[in-house]
Amino acid sequence: MHAACGRLLGTLEPEEEREFGVALDRMLSAMLPTLGLVFGIAVVLFSAWDYWIAPEWAGATALLRLSLVLVGSLGYVSWSTRFPVAWRGGLVYVTHTGAMILSSAALPDGLVLALPAITGVMFPLALVEPRLHRLFLMVLLPSLLFTILGAAALQKHVFIGCLLVYLVSLVLMAAMAVSQGRWRRAAFLTERALAFAAHHDSLSGVLARGYLIELANHDVALAKRYGRPLTICMIDIDHFKRVNDTFGHPAGDALLCEVSRVCAAQLRASDYFGRIGGEEFVSVMPETNEEDAYACAERMRRAVAAIRHDTPNGTIGCTISIGIAALHQEHGEFATLLAAADAALYQAKSQGRNRTVLAPPQAFS
Ligand code: GH3
Ligand code: MG
Ligand code: MG
Repeated sequence: MHAACGRLLGTLEPEEEREFGVALDRMLSAMLPTLGLVFGIAVVLFSAWDYWIAPEWAGATALLRLSLVLVGSLGYVSWSTRFPVAWRGGLVYVTHTGAMILSSAALPDGLVLALPAITGVMFPLALVEPRLHRLFLMVLLPSLLFTILGAAALQKHVFIGCLLVYLVSLVLMAAMAVSQGRWRRAAFLTERALAFAAHHDSLSGVLARGYLIELANHDVALAKRYGRPLTICMIDIDHFKRVNDTFGHPAGDALLCEVSRVCAAQLRASDYFGRIGGEEFVSVMPETNEEDAYACAERMRRAVAAIRHDTPNGTIGCTISIGIAALHQEHGEFATLLAAADAALYQAKSQGRNRTVLAPPQAFS
């Protein structure tokens, strides 16, 4: 039953559904100032309609509309994290539709005449909030209000007709929310897949060059500002050309993935690792000094040297050379750091490969 409901609504895995909810809330929060204001102005301007129906009541209903819209306008913008967007949206919807229902109930046959407007606002709501449980919570109070006031103010057969129209509108609103939710979830998954593809290397799955540089620039700026350590390692597979030439490119690709996986596994959760060129990688280690980075680099080097990758043409292994550069306050650019690590890597290659070399301070000048 639960699974069938999930399929109908197009719900995602719990973690994805949570992220989808956060994205929806962010969008709702961005739309509320404009949508809320437009809704509020429309509700107040409809005082003219009240005047047309019953001029003697128009002053009172205008005041009622204005007061409730003013209360609801507290939900247009975010005042505090303790007033989440779900509550803000609910406050706007309940006060604004409440104003429409209460003021039309005061007019002769007002609820019948205002029925298209009262039910009509459900549809834009289903477009901006496609989560059924939230949608029903939002329409609950206005629906009770409509039912109670309709039962009190209208003749029985008119009330039953209005209630039927209201219920059919609720069903249509739910159907619209379901289709909107399915479409939004599909768009969310596509967007997520595109973002992942833009941020990750398609072969190894580690961070792509552009994204790694973006993250590193940010972390270097932070480390510089607060005088915190940050170290990077530049890693290059030794004699990788030979692997390709001897075992073929597919085997080389598989080894490249294995090296990425093994190196990334040696890092802390706060470090990150990306592929910046053919068989070259960089790990960025915030809050890490040279000694700790050196120990980590040696762990990576030993772990890679232990790789044994079986292919139809035999077992492949490889080694890596690593250049390390630590952030210096006076040379705090990621590009400078990268150049220093590259120079240290060059040293490691010329000293015989399969080793780790620290960039000397003069490498930064
Ligand atoms: P060194 O120890 O000096 O680094 O020698 P090397 O052979 O690793 O260095 P070189 O830069 O001469 O060669 C890098 C090789 O990496 C050449 C290229 O064919 C290979 N390569 C680059 N990207 C990929 C890839 O995505 N897949 C495979 N299979 N090979 C790649
Ligand atoms: Mg190489
Ligand atoms: Mg290379």
